[in-house]
Amino acid sequence: MRVAVVGGGITGLFVARYLRSRSVEVTLYERSRMGAGSVHAAGILEGHNYYTINNLRYLRRALRYLGNGSSQVRRVDRRWLSNYLRSFGRTLRPEDLARVAELGSHSLREYAALAESIDDFGFRMGGLTERYEQPRLFQDALRNLRSRPTEERVEVTEEKDGGGSLHYPDMGWLDTDRCIHRLTRELSGVRTAIAEVDSVRLDGTVGSSEGSDPFDRVIVTAGIACRRLGLPITAVKGYGWTAPPVPSLRNAVIFADWGLAAVPLAQGVKVTSGWDFTFSADNRRASALWSRARTLLGSDGNVPVEQGYRPTTPDGLPLVGRRDRLIVATGGFRLGWSLAPGLARHAVDLALDTAPEDPFLSRYCGTLRTGRLRGAFPS
Ligand SMILES: Cc1cc2nc3c(=O)[nH]c(=O)nc-3n(C[C@H](O)[C@H](O)[C@H](O)COP(=O)(O)OP(=O)(O)OC[C@H]3O[C@@H](n4cnc5c(N)ncnc54)[C@H](O)[C@@H]3O)c2cc1C
Repeated sequence: MRVAVVGGGITGLFVARYLRSRSVEVTLYERSRMGAGSVHAAGILEGHNYYTINNLRYLRRALRYLGNGSSQVRRVDRRWLSNYLRSFGRTLRPEDLARVAELGSHSLREYAALAESIDDFGFRMGGLTERYEQPRLFQDALRNLRSRPTEERVEVTEEKDGGGSLHYPDMGWLDTDRCIHRLTRELSGVRTAIAEVDSVRLDGTVGSSEGSDPFDRVIVTAGIACRRLGLPITAVKGYGWTAPPVPSLRNAVIFADWGLAAVPLAQGVKVTSGWDFTFSADNRRASALWSRARTLLGSDGNVPVEQGYRPTTPDGLPLVGRRDRLIVATGGFRLGWSLAPGLARHAVDLALDTAPEDPFLSRYCGTLRTGRLRGAFPS
């Protein structure tokens, strides 16, 4: 069987790896460099966690981010917006949320197994702390914690000023750059093409500058470009910096009031920020966001910025589905790294007909169609 994988972000790299381990002939297409769409991320691995966005609680948080400059709304996908409005307030069934949590658990086990063979990508199960300055935000987080079923252990610390923190000891992180290098190095037997795919068809044809190639299956893991296939995906843009070490930072931290994350790595601190609804490549906002990050972390100097786009469904949860010979896996939103191995495994099962479609994970795939991908990813 010949399978094409379109997109060499974190999901596509795992898809190619799994297909190879099942002796499939694989061609992996990436328009830029391996990991280009994913490397800017903080690399926090949130295990069983999930974030739904089509509800009042998330909307209130988004409005706070708009008010304090952590977010901007420039443009959203039209299909995404109409689905978002139609599904607003819809609660999900516990078994569907359990399915998402299971993707996260598989992913965590997979990163742990990779690190056990060689720990060359800074994998640490050192815990995640969410810090809240504003009492209202902290109380809201506590209410949310109590209202949802979770298998995560969590330690709550309340401060005298009304703020506080939630510490998740079973969450971890990795160095995204080194993890991409590791996965790329281990692609032996996979044909890689650094080429932008023009179009993919339901019958398995991939069109690129190399010509038109028929495959038995095509798995598209092209992030926000998947919207060109008729799916309701919008882009939530953010920025990543690798700053000099901050000695007081011992584990991954999210400054929840600002949506800013910081992760201690061997060579410094990975910092991420920004929740902009836009498809633009313009990164003029990055310097203002970096100034705030520097103040919060007590860090100095200017460091180069990388930008990325969280591929986001109307409810904020991932999407894996199939129509004819075309399979799509996307929608990682803020947990794309935490879920990638799980998404990839399910996409490969669908491609090889070893598992049925999951009614929840494929919920938006009724409109999946042939489409033109070229130019959908900002350069
Ligand atoms: C600031 C920021 C911080 C984040 N932090 C975390 C975190 O701490 N933990 C976490 O779990 N997640 C995090 N995320 C989310 C995570 O980065 C994304 O969900 C993840 O990158 C999605 O992976 P993907 O492989 O599905 O898509 P992408 O990363 O978007 O990769 C898609 C790839 O497809 C390629 N491509 C697109 N079109 C074509 C084409 N036509 N032909 C060939 N190639 C193509 C692109 O170049 C790209 O490399 C963060 C995101 C942002 C923006």
